[in-house]
Amino acid sequence: MALDPGHNGQSISVFDKITGVEMRDYPNGAEDADVFAVATTAKRALERAGYTVVLLKKNTSESVTYRQRVDRAERAEADIGISIHTSPGEHSVFDQRLGGYREGTGADGQTLRVTFKNADLARKSGRLSSKFATARSQVEGRQVNVVQNNFGGRAPLWAGDLPMISLISQKVPWVYSEFGTVDGGGGSNPIGPTGRSLYARSIVAATKAAVPNTCE
Ligand SMILES: [Zn+2]
Repeated sequence: MALDPGHNGQSISVFDKITGVEMRDYPNGAEDADVFAVATTAKRALERAGYTVVLLKKNTSESVTYRQRVDRAERAEADIGISIHTSPGEHSVFDQRLGGYREGTGADGQTLRVTFKNADLARKSGRLSSKFATARSQVEGRQVNVVQNNFGGRAPLWAGDLPMISLISQKVPWVYSEFGTVDGGGGSNPIGPTGRSLYARSIVAATKAAVPNTCE
């Protein structure tokens, strides 16, 4: 499995050679170290439980595009890719929904709309996301739902409803996780040691629920 500590060490904007989408990413304050710590803790726990885990970012300052992350997951033959993010007031999971899309200005200056059309992968991601969200709900003691994202009004990010990494992953089913603490931690606001510990436990339990380790 592949754990993806979200966000990039620096602001980047690169057009994906395969799909043409603009892969724009940026450091996001406290989120970078928070999700890296959570991913590292979760990796250790999952390895102790017998899983093979690859981290898709080597350290908080590494610059690695969404395509490079997907390539790393594919090279590792991951059976699931999990993007780990935090956001204030947000505790939800985004699946690779069939018909999900992003739209914006391509490298040639023309408007480009890229739609997720892989029905088989959408089904897999939907199943995994649903198990993942249910297990997170139990650990976090609150309802975590599988929902659709909305990137409208977030220019210069392309409009649409699917995270870029979920849109471009065509072999590995992807689950995109957002977490916020009850007191407003998440995104550029630190989630604190308690938040990190809870999120890591939640990711571990959710991953085990989604992918029983007889598959590993
Ligand atoms: Zn994020």
